[in-house]
Amino acid sequence: MEKVGTYISVILPLRLEWNPCYFVPEGEGPVARGDRVSVRFAGRKYTGVVRDTGIVPGIDESRILEILDIVRDMAPVTEDELRLWEFVSEYYLCSVGEVYKAAYPAVKIDGELVSLRSKERARAAVDKKVAAVRARLERTGTILARRKELLARAVKQAVKDRYAEDVRKYEAEAIHLGEELMRLASPEVDDVPGNEPPLHVPSLSAAQKEALGRIKTGMSDKKPVLLDGVTGSGKTEIYIVLALEALSRGKNVLYLVPEIAVSRQLEDRLTSVFGSRLLTFHSKETPARRYSVLESVRHGGYVLLGTRSAVFLPHRDLGLVIVDEEHDPSYKQDAPAPRYNGRDTALMLARIHGADVILGTATPSLESLYNCRTGRFVKVMLSEKYFGNTDTEVEIIDTSAERRKKGMKGSFSFRLIAKVNEALSSGGQVLLLRARRSYAPSLQCTGCGDIPHCPHCNVPLSWHRQEGVMMCHYCGSRFSYTGACGRCGAPLEPLGAGTQRVEEEARELFPGARLARLDSDTSSSASAGKDVVKAFSDRKIDILVGTQIVTKGFDFGGLSLVAVIQADSLLGQQDFRADERAVQMLGQFMGRGGRRGQKGTFVIQTSRPSHPVYRLFSGDYRNEDLSEEMLSERYAFGYPPFSRIVQVIVRDREEKAAEDLAAELAGVLMKEYGVPCQAGGGSGTVSVMGPYPPAVDKVSDLYIRHIRILMKKGPELAGMKRRLDATVQEFCRVRQCAGNIVLDVDP
Ligand code: ADP
Ligand code: ZN
Repeated sequence: MEKVGTYISVILPLRLEWNPCYFVPEGEGPVARGDRVSVRFAGRKYTGVVRDTGIVPGIDESRILEILDIVRDMAPVTEDELRLWEFVSEYYLCSVGEVYKAAYPAVKIDGELVSLRSKERARAAVDKKVAAVRARLERTGTILARRKELLARAVKQAVKDRYAEDVRKYEAEAIHLGEELMRLASPEVDDVPGNEPPLHVPSLSAAQKEALGRIKTGMSDKKPVLLDGVTGSGKTEIYIVLALEALSRGKNVLYLVPEIAVSRQLEDRLTSVFGSRLLTFHSKETPARRYSVLESVRHGGYVLLGTRSAVFLPHRDLGLVIVDEEHDPSYKQDAPAPRYNGRDTALMLARIHGADVILGTATPSLESLYNCRTGRFVKVMLSEKYFGNTDTEVEIIDTSAERRKKGMKGSFSFRLIAKVNEALSSGGQVLLLRARRSYAPSLQCTGCGDIPHCPHCNVPLSWHRQEGVMMCHYCGSRFSYTGACGRCGAPLEPLGAGTQRVEEEARELFPGARLARLDSDTSSSASAGKDVVKAFSDRKIDILVGTQIVTKGFDFGGLSLVAVIQADSLLGQQDFRADERAVQMLGQFMGRGGRRGQKGTFVIQTSRPSHPVYRLFSGDYRNEDLSEEMLSERYAFGYPPFSRIVQVIVRDREEKAAEDLAAELAGVLMKEYGVPCQAGGGSGTVSVMGPYPPAVDKVSDLYIRHIRILMKKGPELAGMKRRLDATVQEFCRVRQCAGNIVLDVDP
């Protein structure tokens, strides 16, 4: 029998290299790209998205399944969303389904359905009420007409009075019921935002105005603008003015930040300007919250403050995209796929919507500086702090030298102790930074010298003394702490100090001070973190000990001393970006101080004081010089931003298997691209490096090997990436190892 209907391809939330084909019988009604359909795939039911309609199936038609249903209750995915998914899938070498899954996680879809159902129930309840009120109104109308008739016919004054009284009563009731009906009939009473307060435009300083002018010139050239503004220069106020202007043009605004968990300060500031137009969104929202944000986004008229996954909301009419702290590595998602960078995806999103883009930071990424150099971005500098520039006194303390001179007490040098006391006695606040949470980053046996490691990962266990456990920061495993070596039974001793120990030492050294700690252990509930931040900005805390999370955009007025306890942990690592990151992080640390025109002090404790990264802060170097130096180094080695890196990650439960598979694949790739060229202005456009074990070569019982592919930038880049993807796919197909290999673009 001839089937009547159409064939469609469907995007499923899976890692599939193709979009399976389904049949939609004519009786189901019309179906279009973006519609949601419920289908069966490999024995399970999924809600998918129609990618194309009217396709010619590549396989025998009798083997093609019918869809189960067209999900008409859910808003279709827009063409803009689909284009972004396709873009991301192509760029980050992943399937469109994986992007769909990130954009609409199962909880979101369920939330949407649950909420729809409860909405339907609410609507049904309203309908019932309307019918009841209408019936009462009719009855009242009938009685009223009857009383009016009687009133007209009445002769005796007393009777007249009684009927007149009745008429007034029933007239009042009719008016009341009529109003009630109107209220019930007005569409979705709760969804309409209340009366908005008038928007208040902040007044900018002369320097900010001047920067704003140049930003607008850049935007009118249709180019993304990099706002390179020193910390405390008031970049936020500039974003606000731009956002207000976009809203007044009837456009919406996306405002990306690297982290939202503790960024209460920014949220409060933006709420005071945008009122209920401000929406916030991050990846850990409850389904109900997600749904309500989704609805508000579809409604329009918003400024959405969110983390990277906010790029996948169903945005409409975006007029402006703000990426704050554009250099921040937490914009990159490492796992699972799509392994995308929120900043770069935001640029794609803006291009789709024709929206203006502003990337702001005090410590630009080399990528963005490079883009400014090539003319792809426009760079605008803002080098004046809003409350005036002050010289920050920078002191670099050589901890090895101090230790030799007996000038250290635990993690603190005597010089730092003096600085802290000085700051406290003049009523200032102190921020102590230590990049490692825990009491001790590792432990060592005093007998046999063994360092306890995670049985699942190749990393030492950190000692969380307060919780009485040894913990793996990679897989989260916990082991109770007995204090004795598991091998020989001798006592364990802590190696180094994490934030908990620094806090403990500080309590002993500065007994009068009010102390708190902020790291991902203490801020595991977002509200706890926000409380600490609030208490610190209200000056109810004198000394705050924390990890990097303290530095992300916080604006504390009373801070006079910022000290990095053990800065060397920021260097090291075999990553070619390590120095860049260290400079950015130290720059951000330093920028937390001196924000109200007061003189700040910045102390770096290090055992490698002559490292160029530190020299930058002692004034021997200028930031521009260091960036130049790093850029020429990258050029020499052919590293990004002069090329792109695709990291091939090979994993296996057996170390030997991971190694062999990686070696075999590297061989295939080298053959494919010719001899691995020595990068650096070299002749080849592709070079293959590795396989080599990464710094942590075993995580969660999987051994890891990396192969690094460097591709020169140029018109062939997209093609080369596709070819790499195809080669790896084919290798996986032949070796049946698709689960062992993933690609990470721009790691
Ligand atoms: P940045 O993000 O550039 O480090 P912020 O935007 O946090 O700097 O601004 C630093 C401080 O200056 C904040 O307390 C902010 O409220 C204040 N500020 C900046 N610009 C203005 C302005 N135009 N009017 C009033 N206060 C401002
Ligand atoms: Zn582990």
